[in-house]
Amino acid sequence: MMIRFAIVPLLLALNFSMCKRNETVSQNSQPSSTPSPTPAAPVAAASPKITKPVVDQTAQTIIFCYHRLVDKVRYPGTEITPAAFEAQMKELKDHGITVISMQDLLAWKRGEKNIPPRCAVITFDDGWKSQYEVAWPILKKFGYPVTMFIYTEGVRGGSLGGGEAITWEQLGDMRDNGVDIEAHSATHQDLREGHSIMLASTGGKRTRAKLTGPQYEEWVRNEVVGSKELLEQRLGIKVDCFAVPFGNYNEHVKELARNAGYEAMFTVYGQPITFTSPMDSLGRYAIEANKPKVFEDAVKMIGASTSGGAPVAEVGAKDLATQPADGETVRTALPLIKANLSGLGQIEPGSVQMRVSGLGVVPASYDPKTETVSYQVTQKLRDKSCSVFVSAKSAGKKVEAHWTFGIEEGDAGPPPAGTPAQKK
Ligand SMILES: [Zn+2]
Repeated sequence: MMIRFAIVPLLLALNFSMCKRNETVSQNSQPSSTPSPTPAAPVAAASPKITKPVVDQTAQTIIFCYHRLVDKVRYPGTEITPAAFEAQMKELKDHGITVISMQDLLAWKRGEKNIPPRCAVITFDDGWKSQYEVAWPILKKFGYPVTMFIYTEGVRGGSLGGGEAITWEQLGDMRDNGVDIEAHSATHQDLREGHSIMLASTGGKRTRAKLTGPQYEEWVRNEVVGSKELLEQRLGIKVDCFAVPFGNYNEHVKELARNAGYEAMFTVYGQPITFTSPMDSLGRYAIEANKPKVFEDAVKMIGASTSGGAPVAEVGAKDLATQPADGETVRTALPLIKANLSGLGQIEPGSVQMRVSGLGVVPASYDPKTETVSYQVTQKLRDKSCSVFVSAKSAGKKVEAHWTFGIEEGDAGPPPAGTPAQKK
């Protein structure tokens, strides 16, 4: 997993929300070395040179993740009112932010298509009928494209798809009208090995299990690959995006997704997407009724008034040698947290700061000789996952990195990080 550094206001950090307990972060930077050179022209005589358009590498996109639209919010972690949603859609327009399709974002990332300097992508997760009945008409009013991240067992008729779930017919209608439909697993659970999961059969029988080894591999393959194939087969589409349930993943899950042909993977750790943001952890802002600030902050992040965008450097996790590693699960709530900052170049030793989710700024020590920042946690971490943020000044600019690891004490596994509410 890559860990990135960026000149990024730290305020990015702390919007934890229901769908994002264990997110991998990434913000990133740096105009990648150089734009890829123009491919060689075909040899044929007078044929015109085929050139890629020169894309604006300083453009930025924020991606929003919505769930349900309801008139009366009962679960503010995943719901907002249609009025609030519509107001936000209008606000994007008012701020000069162009809503583009996911496919345009991907084409821009490939260097194939230009996008306006400040963009947003709208996504809806899980597949609720209110997305079809309420959200879509509002989006059409604004002429905004939208992407749906569907977990296949949650579609009406699936083992988790009740009366509030979207139907295959509705998805087909959306597809016919240009809506981008992408994958969000089969059963919407923590995809990492060894987590307690729920196994459901269409008959309605449920069992809890902790799968390991070949059984786990078979299960996770169906979640990551099977769900993609099912969407592609049922709808006759190409699925190239994967939104990770709760953002809980690790290298193995990523590798599975990459091998399955996914071009992009999404978390719910909101951050502006830049030209060099790694494709396997594109962060989305999860919009919730009880956290209106998340939307405002996201808009501000790419707003003209911020220093926004200023890309800097990109450093791989291996260069940072973080401990615990990104995506790792440790068995203690009192871990030693470490990162080697040498990949950042010259940093000002006095400027190094570490934040730990649940603790805030911690008295970490930085050893300029080994260029290592470390902190021994002394107060048990209470969450199942822990995000660490390290920042420092380098050449007068602030650089920041963050990563996330999981905590699972003892053998008695906790319940999974989250199980989707069954669609009633
Ligand atoms: Zn979801």
